[in-house]
Amino acid sequence: MKLQYKSREKILEEKCVDGVEYLSYPLLEKTGMVNHGFSTRIGGVSEGVCSSMNLSFARGDKEEAVRENFRRIAAALDVKVENMVFSKQTHTTNVRVVTEEDRGKGTVKPLDYDQVDGLVTNIPGLCLATFYADCVPLFFVDPVQKAIGLSHSGWRGTVGKIGKITVETMRKEYGTDPADVLAAVGPSICQKCYEVSEDVIEQFRINYEQKYWEELFYKKENGKFHLNLWKANEIVFGEAGIKAEHIAVTNVCTCCNPDVLFSHRASHGKRGNLGAFMAIREGGTTCY
Ligand SMILES: [Zn+2]
Repeated sequence: MKLQYKSREKILEEKCVDGVEYLSYPLLEKTGMVNHGFSTRIGGVSEGVCSSMNLSFARGDKEEAVRENFRRIAAALDVKVENMVFSKQTHTTNVRVVTEEDRGKGTVKPLDYDQVDGLVTNIPGLCLATFYADCVPLFFVDPVQKAIGLSHSGWRGTVGKIGKITVETMRKEYGTDPADVLAAVGPSICQKCYEVSEDVIEQFRINYEQKYWEELFYKKENGKFHLNLWKANEIVFGEAGIKAEHIAVTNVCTCCNPDVLFSHRASHGKRGNLGAFMAIREGGTTCY
């Protein structure tokens, strides 16, 4: 895949399985505990603005095409479509504790919940699934208590610090010590591409300490601001108690790479969805 990276560091790994291209984090991979990945546009069957790996049933694409795309990305990630559990993203900070009864919700069973932007589980095989086109995916792996989390953090979720709420939910439910957690900020819009108005910045001024403001946003001549959601979520990880050496931050921007990744901004809203996926491997964990 022809991706433009913002730095030379090898934070993400490009993978290709049977023509399906996706990105993964060596930081999470090396635990041997999870199957995970972030999809690209490459390797699906959808056409037009959804070309080709669209993972949304709600963007005017043919249902059959989307189903085939899910079948393909699941095969590439070595997870099962019928084990997926979807978020129902509405820019909240609500985190759902995913249990056995949720298995297949979004793919083989209807979603019977709403306003869920974060998912956590400790059940092997269940594949958490969240969806994107510039917003920020957050991945969490606790290799000690064997629990995972996956959350959707747009600017509202980042203001509300859903990353911290996800870790707190894992602590409450699974006894997770934040010092054990490995976390990744997923591919999403970079600061250079992300222009926002001052009312958004005002929310960040309220919720983030002043010492961070210079790193988080700057004002342009036109009165608009550029906001750094990657840095903001890295700060949230720190506030949650995650160690700096356990954090990976994407150096790939969705909006800088509109041919490989869906970007709401780059496409002016004419686009499909990317997916972030993560499951605890079944049959015990193997370190390699
Ligand atoms: Zn960019």
